[in-house]
Amino acid sequence: MISCSKKETNPLLSEWDTPYGVPPFEQVEIEHFAPAFEIAMKEHKDEMEAIITNSEEPTYENTVEASYYAGELLSRVRTVFGAFNSVNISDELQELARELSPKLSAHYDEISLDPRYFERYKTVYENKENFDLNDEQLFLLESGYKGFVQSGAALPEDKKEELKKMNQELSGLTLQYSQNILAEVNRFKLVIDNQEDLAGLPQASIDAAAETAAKDSLEGKWVFTIQKPSMIPFLQYADNRELRKEIYDAYVNQGNHDDEYDNKENLAKILNLRVKRAELLGYEDHASIRTENRMAQNPENVFDLLNQLWDGILPKVKQERAALQGMIDKEGGDFKLAPHDWFYYTEKLRKEKYDLDESEVRPYFELENVRQGIFDVANKLYGITFTPIEGIPVPHPETTVYEVKEADGSHLALFFMDMHPRASKRGGAWCGGFREHYYTQDGEEVKPLVTNVTNFTRPSGDSPALLSVDEVETMFHEFGHALDGLFSETSYTTSNIAWDFVELPSQIMEHWAFEKDVLKMYAKHYKTGEVIPDELIEKLHASANFNQGFALTEVLAASLLDMRFHTMTEETPELNVMEFEKEYLNSIGLIPEIYSRYRSTYFNHIMGGYDAGYYSYTWASVLDNDAFEAFKETSLFDQETAQSFRENVLAKNGIKDAMEMYVAFRGREPKIEALLMNLGIN
Ligand SMILES: [Zn+2]
Repeated sequence: MISCSKKETNPLLSEWDTPYGVPPFEQVEIEHFAPAFEIAMKEHKDEMEAIITNSEEPTYENTVEASYYAGELLSRVRTVFGAFNSVNISDELQELARELSPKLSAHYDEISLDPRYFERYKTVYENKENFDLNDEQLFLLESGYKGFVQSGAALPEDKKEELKKMNQELSGLTLQYSQNILAEVNRFKLVIDNQEDLAGLPQASIDAAAETAAKDSLEGKWVFTIQKPSMIPFLQYADNRELRKEIYDAYVNQGNHDDEYDNKENLAKILNLRVKRAELLGYEDHASIRTENRMAQNPENVFDLLNQLWDGILPKVKQERAALQGMIDKEGGDFKLAPHDWFYYTEKLRKEKYDLDESEVRPYFELENVRQGIFDVANKLYGITFTPIEGIPVPHPETTVYEVKEADGSHLALFFMDMHPRASKRGGAWCGGFREHYYTQDGEEVKPLVTNVTNFTRPSGDSPALLSVDEVETMFHEFGHALDGLFSETSYTTSNIAWDFVELPSQIMEHWAFEKDVLKMYAKHYKTGEVIPDELIEKLHASANFNQGFALTEVLAASLLDMRFHTMTEETPELNVMEFEKEYLNSIGLIPEIYSRYRSTYFNHIMGGYDAGYYSYTWASVLDNDAFEAFKETSLFDQETAQSFRENVLAKNGIKDAMEMYVAFRGREPKIEALLMNLGIN
């Protein structure tokens, strides 16, 4: 708790006497942060020390629960700092962030790796039956314990040393692997000096290539790179087939040139070390460690799902291949479709079949209309309302604040929206918050403060902000995350959201965005008020499904390769990763016209974070399609289904096992059929 007997002048350290206890953003100056962090870290450490040295026997309350309440001041200071450092950035603040970052990670390491704390935690864990814990407490205790075991906290001292060495070696190797990719990306340049070779390319792409050339002192020429914004348009539009091959070959062979940037041996060493480490930690393989605390729970479940989808998608992608070959034949091209042709003929086919021009759609997606549409969808589903509210402190003046109320008018939360790009804002779109739902130690309920931040098209001149299709989708997506936060019923500020479940609440919202009945609610022409015509809706729907076989095949191949690598159970010093990749992907029937989305020598995701985790994108798609189907089976705004989704999923996310949540909502485990159907596969 904060003690403030003498008058505190640092607003970060005083009681927050603001409406709804929102952080006093407008009173905070940069110089308040450094001293506040120092005091808050010290306070957190003292609180943890008191827990660890408590002379009483470890109990759930005096050890695990007490640690959830510790560090409250620090998390408040971090919240304010984090808000400024993402939407109100300055050089001074960034400098401070660089200074603070190592201090903070050292602080948290010191606390979480303290063997004295683990000993107490373990005692509680082993005696959990004696503490009369509720489901949430038991879930957090158990998943926390697994986390300790995965990080090696339970190992004897000598094994811990061995683990530390492996981790160090791994972090060196993974860094090297990533740096090699970067070097490879920077090394390759496709230099064009003959204007004819630009045939087919859009002007924006040509201009960008001329700029790149000028930067490289190649004035008057054009330079394309294997960075996606440069390469993808080239693959899609350049008529010169030889040059398409040249750039794509460079892309798919990054880290595979048997030179100083080669990654074959690096990856082999990394995989072998992960085999060894899994064994040391008492697991079957690396993938078993990574999936244990997730919805998938084990590699078998991941393979099971990926294989089902794989079998479903192969016929579809073969149809797509045939259509592209048909296009080549029709044009009189006397050759067989190759990987570097796929993008080019796909674009031709897209234009021929759909001819959807985005500038036709934008006038129907005025930001204010879309926002109202989103609020109306939430109202129809959950009965909640959004009312603009003034006088609430915000981290940047462009933020608008809404009070969210339940159907009966009671206060649920505050919702902050900050929509447009500016120099002081980090790029992208995200959902965050200034406070989670929880109960104080005195049992008082604290309501959440949730934010959506995006970088959408600004209004310009007389025209309001008109969103692209992608932006509309993103707005619904981030709002789905927001609902997850608004409806949260967690007891503590600690929760443990399964990593392959976190995108369900967001991705399911995307489905409402483009439903015909919903579009008719909000997609109105900003000038005339005319509702979006049926014909345009049909075009939108049709083009959305185009080329989905290719997209899913690419991703599935990479996901399967990642899982296959990380279910190796024996060290294989002679491992040749490219041969392994080729044999494995051939054996499961990948067609030769498509490469895995990332290949072994430039699969940066699996260096850390997405190792045995690349599947999670696909996993989430299965969930959101299957979950949305529950509404389609009844009605788009079915009250019973919505209530069940709120109670079983949104309220419990992070405090209950993900599969149990899902089954409670859906009445069964997830099935892949809805995803396949939505991709146009029967
Ligand atoms: Zn998301």
